[in-house]
Amino acid sequence: MDVLGVGFDPITLDQAVERVAGWIDGWDGDSPPRQVVTVNPEGVMLARRHSRLADVVRRADLVTADGIGVVMASAWMGTPLPERVTGADLAERLLAVAQCRGWRVYLLGASSASLGGALAELGRRFPDVQWHGRHGYFDELGEKEIVEEIVRIRPHLLLVGMGAPRQDLWIAAHRDLPAGVAMGIGGTIDVWSGMVKRAPVFWRRLRLEWLYRLLRQPSRIRRQLALPRFAVLAWTAGLGKRRKNGH
Ligand code: UDP
Repeated sequence: MDVLGVGFDPITLDQAVERVAGWIDGWDGDSPPRQVVTVNPEGVMLARRHSRLADVVRRADLVTADGIGVVMASAWMGTPLPERVTGADLAERLLAVAQCRGWRVYLLGASSASLGGALAELGRRFPDVQWHGRHGYFDELGEKEIVEEIVRIRPHLLLVGMGAPRQDLWIAAHRDLPAGVAMGIGGTIDVWSGMVKRAPVFWRRLRLEWLYRLLRQPSRIRRQLALPRFAVLAWTAGLGKRRKNGH
């Protein structure tokens, strides 16, 4: 379903978990990964002027609405997406499946301290998962080592938390690596390590997670400036569609 040029899969969180788990269950242990991209309003705006990113999103195997803004915009346009499926929520649910299946999971991203904290915490919560990982600040040599490590490990799930769009471009540029599914997870490694707190349920229920994050990290304001522009564009596009349909 198209939202301002980005094609989203109309899928719920439960369905996304099922689809990704199905891909991993059917993976031969050798083939290149399916790519999952979660796109928020900032991502939609970025893809409009970043042709390489637009290409990556177009070729991805699953594209979900990361944020209530995308879900609302899809409704204005008359093609409502069922719900938001964030990278953090999808990754968390997939780890529960990974625990049951004993998958190999590779985390790539965040600072060394944050990654270490996340691996320790996740190791406690999901002890049957085979954990691997590297921090997300590497040079060319470091990248070579990461690639070699992934080739050796052949993770079922490759979770890349280097922020959008860097993580999604990185995955696309390494599509020949052996992994079941690769997906970008933004700042989720920092949430697992406890370095960044997710909005309390109260804020999330009010659909104000974005405001909570902005208040805690005011430096995000620059990125969030894309939101009003996204809203105006989506509303106008929806209005045009409704007029055309005579509503
Ligand atoms: N990051 C990284 N390598 C980089 C730049 C960023 O690993 O070169 C990490 C950073 O430490 C943080 C995450 O990427 O853990 C970005 O988090 P953010 O919340 O900004 O991502 P978003 O979900 O908003 O895209």
